[in-house]
Amino acid sequence: MRPPICAICDKDLGEGEGGLIYFKQRFSDRVWERKMQRINGVGHPPNAEWFCEKHYPRAKELQDLTIDKAIAIILKEEDSEKG
Ligand SMILES: [Zn+2]
Repeated sequence: MRPPICAICDKDLGEGEGGLIYFKQRFSDRVWERKMQRINGVGHPPNAEWFCEKHYPRAKELQDLTIDKAIAIILKEEDSEKG
């Protein structure tokens, strides 16, 4: 596992901070999963990311999207917040 860092703001997450979200799998994510099962490998799934407590609730709402779409949406919202 990678050390947890928020996918949106790069905040380092301490123990119990934020959370890991698994997004809808793309074709490439299913390929990765099958490959890992075949080789009994472990690794950070490409469709999972960590989010800090600020960004976790929004990411959770978007977890039915694929990870690239969900992150693009959150980043865009962050930008418009900054004005
Ligand atoms: Zn964050």
